[in-house]
Amino acid sequence: MTTHYDAIVLGIGAMGSATLYHLAKRGLNVLGIEQFEIPHEMGSSHGLTRIIRLAYYEDSSYVPLLRRAYDLWDTLETEADEKLFYQTGSIDMGPEDSEVFAGSLQSCIEHDLEHEVLTADELNKRFPGYQMPAETMAVFQPQGGLLVPERCIVAHSEIAQQHGATLHTGETVQSWDVLADGRVQVTTNNATYTADKLAICGGAWVYKHVPSLSGIAVPERQVLIWQETKTPEWFTPERFPVWNAIVDEGRYYGFPEFNPAGDTPGMKFGRYHHLDETCDPDTVDRNPNTDDEKILRDFSERYFPQGAGKTLSMKACMFTNTPDEHWILDTLPDTPQVTVAGGFSGHGFKMASVIGEIMADLTQNSTTDHDIGLHRLARFNN
Ligand SMILES: Cc1cc2nc3c(=O)[nH]c(=O)nc-3n(C[C@H](O)[C@H](O)[C@H](O)COP(=O)(O)OP(=O)(O)OC[C@H]3O[C@@H](n4cnc5c(N)ncnc54)[C@H](O)[C@@H]3O)c2cc1C
Repeated sequence: MTTHYDAIVLGIGAMGSATLYHLAKRGLNVLGIEQFEIPHEMGSSHGLTRIIRLAYYEDSSYVPLLRRAYDLWDTLETEADEKLFYQTGSIDMGPEDSEVFAGSLQSCIEHDLEHEVLTADELNKRFPGYQMPAETMAVFQPQGGLLVPERCIVAHSEIAQQHGATLHTGETVQSWDVLADGRVQVTTNNATYTADKLAICGGAWVYKHVPSLSGIAVPERQVLIWQETKTPEWFTPERFPVWNAIVDEGRYYGFPEFNPAGDTPGMKFGRYHHLDETCDPDTVDRNPNTDDEKILRDFSERYFPQGAGKTLSMKACMFTNTPDEHWILDTLPDTPQVTVAGGFSGHGFKMASVIGEIMADLTQNSTTDHDIGLHRLARFNN
């Protein structure tokens, strides 16, 4: 059995599956190692839906990456012969001077994105599931929508395998080292492998694999809720765009009633930084409780009252936050044969397709043509 690879990818979640896919398509002999099954509900990429949008209040410089991400999702859909993206339009809303509204509008203007600005009255009439207060202003961007994350991860993994990638699931990486000859040695609970390169895509566990990221890539417990809708016709993907909102209670995001598999319907939403609980991914409480439900229900009863029926389901998940909420995409300073993708701060999934391409570039060539200036490790040295 081959134990030496061109590259090993540690962690086959959103970013690792995309990295494996791009490396395998480039003809590299790659091994992906995942501690759980693919997909699973222990990390950051489960829960049936993830928002994708072109308008980007977090920083308008993400827009070129988003455009490339859309193209790559489209390619993946064709290769997998499966629908992974559903267009609903996206709403970014809040007071006129809020980061969410003003930042989204700025990104639309700067990058010439198709968009409409709506007052609260116009918003609530056009999309009656929404009941936002009078001071709300909204950006509607028609290309927004949702991805089905578990299926995206499976598609990336399967197509990587079709291109020759080896995938080991239920196998845990325990350590890695750089050998005297420059190869990387990876030790798991089952075996030891060597590779020319290692791509670390460990999600909430990333700081355990790169100790210098302790305190920089910090896991945080999140909770998602699905609530029964009282007027289901207002919450379909055709009449209810995915949304981001900033309100008195904080920053929230949500989805229409949607599940490609047909079960667990309901309006799904969550609160950014939920109850501000940092966590260890090996011990995080994955059982949502009444405090989790209360903070979410208080929000929906006020702003989406017709979507605030009985609770159908709740799930815990994890963000991995950096201090500036931009990502970490880089080679490690003293070991350029090791690359790291982490710290996605609750907004990485939509760009997993292009992050895989960037990680493949960094892994193969230590450089990329994509602009990743926001995401370099050196910013934490200041
Ligand atoms: C509730 C919630 C809602 C979100 N909503 C959105 C959204 O709407 N839009 C958006 O763009 N983003 C969203 N995000 C963020 C996005 O989902 C994440 O940024 C993204 O999924 C992170 O992917 P990842 O590959 O880093 O982590 P994961 O997908 O968790 O993958 C990391 C993998 O590494 C594996 N691993 C770790 N250690 C080991 C080891 N020792 N050995 C083997 N395997 C290992 C793990 O098991 C895991 O499979 C949301 C996140 C959450 C939690």
